[in-house]
Amino acid sequence: MNDCIFCKIIKKQIPSSIIKETNELLVFKDIAPKARFHYLIVPKKHIKDFADMKPEDLDLGTKIFGMIKELSQLSSEHSNFKLLVNNGALAGQKVFHFHIHFLSGDIQLLADIG
Ligand code: AMP
Repeated sequence: MNDCIFCKIIKKQIPSSIIKETNELLVFKDIAPKARFHYLIVPKKHIKDFADMKPEDLDLGTKIFGMIKELSQLSSEHSNFKLLVNNGALAGQKVFHFHIHFLSGDIQLLADIG
């Protein structure tokens, strides 16, 4: 998608702080962090949201779970974390390229959310 900011990040057309990269996924720091560690787990394929996922995209779930496990093992501070998906504009989604927020590092703040 030409006008998608996450597609531009994935293609390295605009900079980001990359934490992890695989063939299918890119993980980079959120530009406006809500916790000390705030990463976005983003499939490289442009998928708008859950409704936009095709049957063949569902295997990404396994890859994403593996990535979450890897992120949780980056340091002892990463082992307590919250995951967040804003699916749809009314739920607060602002970038329409599917992503999962990984938040950790501020234990009290995280304990108070949800
Ligand atoms: P959402 O509201 O779930 O769509 O979240 C979109 C997230 O993308 C927000 O937390 C933004 O701070 C983040 N974001 C937007 N532009 C960038 C960027 N260029 N680099 C990193 N994160 C970004």
